Amino acid sequence: MKIDYAKIITIGVAVMLFCLLVYRLKINTNNPTNAAQSTQLPEDAVHYHAGFQVYVNDELQDYSGIEFMHIEPCGLDEHDDNVDETNEQIEIAHLHDGIGDVVHVHRPGAVWGDLFNNINVVFPSPTEAYVNGEVVDNILNHPINEYDSMIILSGPHTNISEKLDRAVTLEHIIEAEAISETCGS
Ligand SMILES: [Zn+2]
Ligand SMILES: [Zn+2]
Repeated sequence: MKIDYAKIITIGVAVMLFCLLVYRLKINTNNPTNAAQSTQLPEDAVHYHAGFQVYVNDELQDYSGIEFMHIEPCGLDEHDDNVDETNEQIEIAHLHDGIGDVVHVHRPGAVWGDLFNNINVVFPSPTEAYVNGEVVDNILNHPINEYDSMIILSGPHTNISEKLDRAVTLEHIIEAEAISETCGS
């Protein structure tokens, strides 16, 4: 009988590929992080708050105006597939409810620069910043952490200890959080 090497090799390769496929599927189902990623989007889990104040040339800035607010209709599913890139950036960190000193964070990895980018605030001169009373370098790349109280000073300023005393309090952040709870925002 004539041995058909081509046929044997083809079958051999097919069997190998099949085994590889089964092996990969097995890894995927055994890996809990992969399984979690496929069923749950990371943004579903993220929603926290932090306080902030900005002084430009020694003057406290007011971001409570409507132009700084993120308006999203209550009950609207913001996680639908039509969210474009601009919306995605805005979802990272924004303001709600006419409260200009508490940021709402809806995505992992948010930094303070995301907030100021989203509310179109550019600092005219080099900034100095404090988070929970401690000096922080490069604030715009600094992560926003839950219940942080941050102060940015841009331009000349006086009496920093007085400003730190008047920083956003935890009570105020929790109050703002309670207001937005009904809206899920
Ligand atoms: Zn919120
Ligand atoms: Zn929101």
